[in-house]
This record gives sequence, C-alpha cells and structure tokens, in this order.
Amino acid sequence: MVTAPPRREDSAGTARTLHHWSGGQRLDGTSGRFAEVTNPATGAVTAHLPLADEDEAAAVIAAAKAAFPGWRDTSLAKRVQVLFRFRELLNARSGELAELITAEHGKVLSDAAGEVARGQEVVEFACGMPHLLKGSATENASTGVDVHSVRQPLGVTGIVSPFNFPAMVPMWFFPIAIAAGNTVVLKPSEKVPSAALWMAELWREAGLPDGVFNVLNGDKTAVDALLTSPDVKSISFVGSTPIARYVYETATAHGKRVQALGGAKNHMVVLPDADLDLAADQAVNAGFGSAGERCMAISALVAVGDIADTLVAKIAERTRGLRTGDGRRSCDMGPLITRASRDRVAGYVDGGEADGATVVVDGRAGEFDADGEGFFVGPTLLDHVRTDMGVYTDEIFGPVLSVVRVQTYEQAVDLINANPYGNGTALFTCDGGAARRFQNEVEVGMIGVNVPVPVPMAYYSFGGWKNSLFGDTHAHGTEGVHFFTRGKVVTTRWLDPSHAGLNLGFPQNG
Ligand code: NAD
Repeated sequence: MVTAPPRREDSAGTARTLHHWSGGQRLDGTSGRFAEVTNPATGAVTAHLPLADEDEAAAVIAAAKAAFPGWRDTSLAKRVQVLFRFRELLNARSGELAELITAEHGKVLSDAAGEVARGQEVVEFACGMPHLLKGSATENASTGVDVHSVRQPLGVTGIVSPFNFPAMVPMWFFPIAIAAGNTVVLKPSEKVPSAALWMAELWREAGLPDGVFNVLNGDKTAVDALLTSPDVKSISFVGSTPIARYVYETATAHGKRVQALGGAKNHMVVLPDADLDLAADQAVNAGFGSAGERCMAISALVAVGDIADTLVAKIAERTRGLRTGDGRRSCDMGPLITRASRDRVAGYVDGGEADGATVVVDGRAGEFDADGEGFFVGPTLLDHVRTDMGVYTDEIFGPVLSVVRVQTYEQAVDLINANPYGNGTALFTCDGGAARRFQNEVEVGMIGVNVPVPVPMAYYSFGGWKNSLFGDTHAHGTEGVHFFTRGKVVTTRWLDPSHAGLNLGFPQNG
C-alpha cells in the first residue's frame, strides 16, 4: 500500500488510476491510500487502486440503499430482462473480460475464458428467477382460510471476493442477488479489481438502474465497513479460512446472514484398480491448472496400494512437458499472483525437501516464457510426503502436488476426514461399490468420482464442509436463492359472517 498519490508507471508508462463504482458511475478515491495492481507475468505495475476509507464506504453503501426500493418494486419480468441483456452482452464480449483477468491474475487465457463461462452459467440460472421465486399456496387450510408463502429480497447485500477468480466468484452471487431484487456492493480483491469494474459498466449497458450494482475497492477498512454497517443485510465472502472465520463472526455479531467460504486442501485418492493414465492426466490438470491457485485444486494425491511408483512416474512425465509463462502466450500454466506468493510457495518446497520429501519435479528454477520479472514457480511434484510436513498440513495455493502413499482405502478416507478442510475431493477407481462407499463416508462438501475438480453446476450449490465454509448456506443454486431472500407466510380470510365474534384462544384449525 502507498499513501502518496500514485506516480510510478509500468514499463509502457500506462499505469492507470482506478476508481470505485457507485450509483451507476465512477467514483474517484479520496482516501489518499492506494494499492499497486501488477501484471504477475511481467512484474509491471499496471494500475493504482484507491483503497476506500469509512466515508467512501458509507457513500457507496448509501447509493446501494437508495436504489433498493425502486429495484425491489420493479416487476420480476423487467428485472429478468436486464439479466438476459447482461448475458447477451457478456457472451459477445467475454474475450475482453478473459484478457483483463489474465492481465491481473496471470492465469492462461483459456483458463480465464473458462472462468467467465462458469460465471455466466450463474447468470443463466438467475434468468430463471420467476420460476425460482414461486411460493406455495394452500387453499382452505382452515375453514375459509387460505395460506401462501412468498420470498422477498433482503436489501443491500455485500460480496467480498478473493483474487483467484476475479469474475466467477462475484458471479456466484450477484446475478442471483440482483434477480431476486436486492442491490449489491461488491468488494473485489485489491489484487484483481478490473474485472469487477468492467462488469459494472456492462450492467449499465444492460440497463440495470443506477445504484443496483456497486463496486467498493479497498482492503480491511472497506470490508469492515460492510460487515458492520446496519444498512448491509447479508455478506457473501470467499477467501482464506482465517479471514472467512473473522468475516463470519463479525458480520453475524452485527445481525447479518453470512455465507463465508474459506480455504481448502483437496485430496485425490487413486485406488489400485483405477485407470492410471486417466488419473495421471487429471492429477496434472487439477494440480497445476491456474498454477494451483484454485480452491478446488488437488494438492494431495493419495496413492493406495502398490501403484505409487508407476503413478508418480506417469505424473512426472506429464509434468515435465508443461510450459510455464505469460498466460497470453499459449502456455499451460501462468505465474503466481504476487512476488510474496511466489516466495512463499518456493519456501514450502524447500521445507518439504528439508523434511524428507522427494522432489521429483522441481519448479523452483527453470525457463519461463515471459518478459520482465514475473512471479513464477514451475509445476512441482513431491513424493513420499508425510502428513506431519508443512507441505501437507498447510494450504500452499501454488503448483505443488504432494504424493502421500497409503496401503488401504480406509487409510485414505481417514486421512481426508482428519483434515481440517473439507472443500473438494476426488476418487479414481473403476469400482462402483468403492465409489458409492466413498461418497457416503467422506466428510467433504463436493466429491468427484473420476472427476478431479468437481465444481457443481450453477443449479446445484457450491460449498465445502468444516473449515472450508462458515455458515450453512452454500453458493448459488437454490441455496443461493434462499440466501438472498427471506420468507413470508400470509394467512388470509375473506370476511365471512359465520366466523365473526371474539375468541382470545390461540388460532386453531377448524
Ligand atoms: P484473502 O482471504 O486474503 O482475501 C479475500 C478477501 O478478503 C479480499 O477481498 C481481501 O481484500 C479481504 N481481506 C483480506 N484480509 C482481510 C482482513 N484482515 N479483514 C477483512 N478483509 C480482508 O484470500 P485470497 O488470498 O484473495 O484468496 C485465496 C484464498 O481464497 C484461498 O485460501 C482459497 O482457498 C480461498 N478460496 C476459497 C474458495 C471457496 O469456494 N471455498 C474459492 C476461491 C478461493
């Protein structure tokens, strides 16, 4: 963070000064605090991001609050038409958004395009809001009495998102929140703010009324303003476990409903009967895709029985063939998000080696296809990892795949169930009975059978167990609709003279 007005520019001299988005227009930062946004493939500073103070946060929240009554009262048909327009615009221009993501996050362009597509699925789900918001009705529940239920929007909803999915994670929430009649204040990660600002402009183009979608840029100060403001009715958070816990505890203490998705340590179990070529392909895809910076990345591969030597050899061969570099250059894998992250990940590999793990493929040094000083660690494969090593116990969030060897299926499941995280897991096998038993026994929220990254479709809900989720509501799907609405039950009797008269007893059916 810098406190002086930004002056440094990247090598091309084009570092931009960014802004907030409030009430349908740009809002310049006034706090005097800025963060640098970098292109992690080159290390160049590409933008200066204003970090909001309490007054700026209050102004953005006020814009969202002012827009709420009008948007809530806009007919469902008209609200959904705006979503359809947003969808069409995003379809036409998704490439622009993918490029923005690659430029600030570093993931390769095809991966960025995939992220946009998965976010777009939630927009499409939310286009079905007229159906999703239908309540229920009972005629003549008591004599002459009808009952019906409705779900109504909350008001201003807050979203706080992480760096690793600049578009998709906000889109897990805001299409549903908006379609249901809420207004939104999105606080994106300060490392990747441009996708949020781009989507704000797209909403304006789609005809969303001013103030329904707002972007508040900042750090802890901005987040705390959302967590404590009485005008913010819900918080949807995605990020690391310590912050997720803090967000959950603080926002619930301030009377809000909260869904706070945290970190992960995802295991892929390979049974002796599995197709080892398929398993090796998928371990590489899931371990090193997006440089391991996915909450559903596989970071621990559990080889069961005597397949480990063969499997490790197959994974190593594939890993050595990967090309790491600038995500705009058709590489397989891009850089890590910051220099500090690069150093932290390399430090974990050092630690694993010192603890006795075998470094089968070493990504700490190597050739990277990029200009400048990007934040690269190549794909790294560690074997003979024990569960007491830091590379196993911690979420590394980098391209490091650790192989743990066990003898039995039971030992593999015990390992997963003993882990404090419970986001995703995968089993590779040709045995349907084993797969059925695994999905029943494993204490994890999202499970893949011969699928390494089992991210649920938009019409199901995304969420982990244990330290991977605080609160009980998962993201999107019907749980998302439930989160962004609250229920009302209306009991109606049209006047009937035969039921007139006093009765001070508790209402009973009759
Ligand atoms: P992070 O926790 O550092 O930041 C997430 C958000 O919280 C950012 O917007 C950041 O500005 C804000 N923040 C950071 N420190 C804060 C503080 N002290 N007080 C209040 N707000 C604060 O996470 P990250 O590094 O951006 O993202 C990576 C993490 O997110 C990983 O742990 C990953 O597993 C997790 N993640 C989880 C999921 C999931 O679905 N469970 C999805 C994506 C990422």
